[in-house]
Amino acid sequence: MTAQLVSDPKSAPPRPAFPHLFAPLDLGFCTLPNRVLMGSMHTGLEDKARDFPKLAAYFAERAEGGVGLMVTGGFSPNIEGWLKPFGGTLRWPWDARKHRQVTQAVHAHGSRICLQILHAGRYGYHPLQVAPSKLKAPINPFTPRALSAGGVERQIRAFVRTAKLARDGGYDGVEVMGSEGYLLNQFTVPRTNKRNDAWGGDAARRMRFAVEIVRRIREACGPDFIIIYRLSMLDLVDGGSEWEDVVAQAKAVEAAGATLINTGIGWHEARVPTIATSVPRAAFTGITARLKPHVQVPLITTNRINMPDVAERILANGEADMVSMARPLLADPQWVNKARTRRVDEINTCIACNQACLDHVFQNQNASCLVNPRACAETELVYRATTAPKRVAVVGAGPAGLAAATVAAGRGHQVTLFDAAAEIGGQFNLAKRIPGKEEFYETLRYFRRRLELTKVDVRLNTRADTTTLATSFDEVVLASGIQPRRVDFPGSTHPKVVSYVDVLTGRVVPGQKVAIIGAGGIGFDVAEFLVHRHEPGNGDMPSPDPKRWRAEWGVDLDYNGNRGGLRDAAPEPAARAVWLLQRSPGKPGAKLGRTTGWIHRATLKAKQVRMLGGVEYIGVDDEGFHIRIDGAQQTLPVDHVVVCAGQEPYRPLADDLRAAGVTVHVIGGADVAAELDAKRAIDQGSRVAAGL
Ligand code: FAD
Ligand code: NAP
Ligand code: SF4
Repeated sequence: MTAQLVSDPKSAPPRPAFPHLFAPLDLGFCTLPNRVLMGSMHTGLEDKARDFPKLAAYFAERAEGGVGLMVTGGFSPNIEGWLKPFGGTLRWPWDARKHRQVTQAVHAHGSRICLQILHAGRYGYHPLQVAPSKLKAPINPFTPRALSAGGVERQIRAFVRTAKLARDGGYDGVEVMGSEGYLLNQFTVPRTNKRNDAWGGDAARRMRFAVEIVRRIREACGPDFIIIYRLSMLDLVDGGSEWEDVVAQAKAVEAAGATLINTGIGWHEARVPTIATSVPRAAFTGITARLKPHVQVPLITTNRINMPDVAERILANGEADMVSMARPLLADPQWVNKARTRRVDEINTCIACNQACLDHVFQNQNASCLVNPRACAETELVYRATTAPKRVAVVGAGPAGLAAATVAAGRGHQVTLFDAAAEIGGQFNLAKRIPGKEEFYETLRYFRRRLELTKVDVRLNTRADTTTLATSFDEVVLASGIQPRRVDFPGSTHPKVVSYVDVLTGRVVPGQKVAIIGAGGIGFDVAEFLVHRHEPGNGDMPSPDPKRWRAEWGVDLDYNGNRGGLRDAAPEPAARAVWLLQRSPGKPGAKLGRTTGWIHRATLKAKQVRMLGGVEYIGVDDEGFHIRIDGAQQTLPVDHVVVCAGQEPYRPLADDLRAAGVTVHVIGGADVAAELDAKRAIDQGSRVAAGL
């Protein structure tokens, strides 16, 4: 699954890299240059007029990067359709004028852009929300008002008005958001549509709202306007569509005038992960393929497609006509150009962590990207060529040091990168071994190539020392990382007690019963590692099996008579009995990622990991691990106790270097270890290097 460069026989004329991906697509009234759609992704820049210049710069970089067609984040057609109070809407002519900054910037690079019209329905986080029926969403405290027949008409008119304004604003078309559990999707399924009027009752009447919207937009905007309909092909909730309903809806929106049909997977309230890193690549494209024989319009497939070989395979197999990628283009705006010019190994791959994109948006911050801190900060974080090259030493080739070294060298500094280890990557070499985190291999591949391209002098197996650093360099970036926190209680030096580093590097293979001290990010990852049956690979990136993954989560692409594409989940038995412990009261995992924490908790629960809070550690001896909870003592009969008790900064060189008069920039874990993650490490490394 590791990216491969396309090789050509020397004698033959060059074969286009990824011929299916770069085949033009004729839409009748316009031709797209390639099969890449930059899918809709809310960035937070849509919500305020003052952020539109930044939004324009963000899209312009991706247009320049070769994307054929892009879709904006969702804009609501009215305030009932807001995602949150004062979220982005397109309702008035003066709104359309400000959008011209975006459309002109995109057109200047020869690309095309559609505006997504998103009506949140009962997912709106405000009291004005409306829905087909008065049913509260399980993920929202607000209860919607049920629309009257007149109210339904008003919503349709609002969609049409927004589409016309989008056209006035210079957009090449719109995407009508009909999936992910938003308003249109709420109409199409019996789970949320309990009406018995012209807009509900049977499948034909439930889909009428969506079909009317497409039909009237086509009527109002003319034949040369792109209409993408985002169709929920797999709701992944009880009471969702049957397969026959999906097919009927696709045919109806095609007949109503849709130019393209895009794939929607899973409602936001679904309890199946759909885009997280643990979802195997292209795990859902089979559902788009199932729809292909039923319609003539081109179909776009989506979810966890992040590298050109995956996209090419889908298109070559005829599973879809286009691939949609949103986060991969946040991670690398040059993705398309790099694929086209056979520079696949230069792609900065989206690792599907959600840490800087979705997690930010859910916390009302602007989106960015863990592997590319410039995403949505294109106008602020600029890597200008230096006019005064310096000799820069970077100590530590973890994420912080790698970012600092490559950005500094890319700007023209002469950079030497030291690492005491035999390979670059720091803790990412542990992270990549966790089942479901295989994408971390790609980040290391990307940095390895960046180091070559920017001509960084890489010295592995070399522990930097003060004398060398003080005498041979103008400035030092200290990215020496962390050391695992040690614990101190009776028996903490017993042979049963080991560190997560011992376990993840394979120095210790734990027995059948294991307790983990510390339920932070690493504790959860170690638990996942221990319950998993397969020994993770050490060399190339291992490929998780999509079929097995779907069985584990209860996803049924064949539907088999079930609504929503669900079946009983069949988790594989755990490889070990595991106890995951923390001293703080409450449920372990409360501080995990906003959009991914529930997945980690659900995975471990399915593997029967016992997650305990409020634990007092009494001691370890040959009998096991003695603990106390709520005053009651018990002994866990474990073979090993793995310590994942957090981390402390490791920066032994900092003081000596400063004493020697060297300018030192301390970054990443070496700076602050508490709540350190790769997002902060890479961001800090990049910003320090941008300022050198
Ligand atoms: P490190 O990665 O610790 O790198 C420091 C480097 O410095 C090491 O390579 C070390 O050998 C080198 N070094 C130290 N001293 C010297 C010296 N004197 N000379 C030369 N070299 C030296 N973060 C996330 O954001 N998301 C995740 O999903 C995630 N999962 C993780 C899973 C696991 C199992 C682990 C262990 C960590 C995970 N992390 C994750 C955390 C993330 O890896 C760290 O935040 C990040 O690696 C910190 O980067 P850093 O560059 O500061 O330090
Ligand atoms: P962490 O998230 O800070 O968790 C440390 C755990 O150890 C806590 O559960 C804490 O709980 C416990 N602990 C702290 N001091 C202790 C002590 N003296 N004795 C016993 N237990 C103690 O740190 P981490 O798990 O080591 O992770 C390091 C960093 O990597 C984190 O900041 C995290 O962001 C990052 N990471 C992220 C991910 C991800 O998926 N995003 C995955 C892995 C790691 P109690 O104090 O309640 O016992
Ligand atoms: Fe992908 Fe993570 Fe970047 Fe989001 S933050 S775009 S998921 S790499």
